[in-house]
Amino acid sequence: MSSIQESLSGVRQRISRACASAGRAPDSVRLLAVSKTVDTARILEAHAAGQRAFGENYLQEALSKQAQLGAQDLEWHFIGPIQSNKTRDIAARFDWVHGVDRLHIAERLSAARAGHARPLNICVQVNISEEPSKSGCRPDDAATLCAAIGRLPHLRLRGLMAIPAPADDALSAREPYRRLRALFDAIRAQGQPLDTISAGMTDDLEAAIAEGSTLIRIGTAIFGSRSTSKILT
Ligand SMILES: *Cc1c(COP(=O)(O)O)cnc(C)c1O
Repeated sequence: MSSIQESLSGVRQRISRACASAGRAPDSVRLLAVSKTVDTARILEAHAAGQRAFGENYLQEALSKQAQLGAQDLEWHFIGPIQSNKTRDIAARFDWVHGVDRLHIAERLSAARAGHARPLNICVQVNISEEPSKSGCRPDDAATLCAAIGRLPHLRLRGLMAIPAPADDALSAREPYRRLRALFDAIRAQGQPLDTISAGMTDDLEAAIAEGSTLIRIGTAIFGSRSTSKILT
């Protein structure tokens, strides 16, 4: 087995165990492989091991890797912060966008997606720990934002995404994810057909799954630690 194949099966085991202890079906959680700073050879190794969904944070890096990879059966998720001058390329080149936290950005993505066969899948990012100067809408604003995005023609609103503040222990790691789940349930109760909670990374996927995450975004546990010097901003 290649090392990426081994790490992937390790992550899949963590998912199964977390699902089992939460009394959830193992296929109720999707794995998004976060491939920022990871070269295409390693993406192809993950692909050979059965991984199909990949998440990228930086547009230029993602476009160049997509061009190298060509037409593969890959599903691309944009998970980084979104600048309004990048919405055209993001809408054209990705299947999902997880970091939408303003209506203005959603409107631009929808307009740029017109003419594509399928709508763009959207998760609204919520600043669930209410940290100053962090991405994400305020929890109190999430329902209104979701309602407005739900009316845009070329988007399909799928759910909520969050990156909580780091926690001190496994138990407190669950609290923000519990609040995210409550918000998700409240917005669904208002009639939005949400089916996705994008929550949980390498260090806290168990906490996120225990609280109902349906899609975890994993980089380090699959591809190893990223050298910070390679991270483009
Ligand atoms: C980098 C990143 C991840 C993956 O983090 P790991 O700790 O390496 O698993 C997940 N989500 C987002 C938004 C990221 O930027």
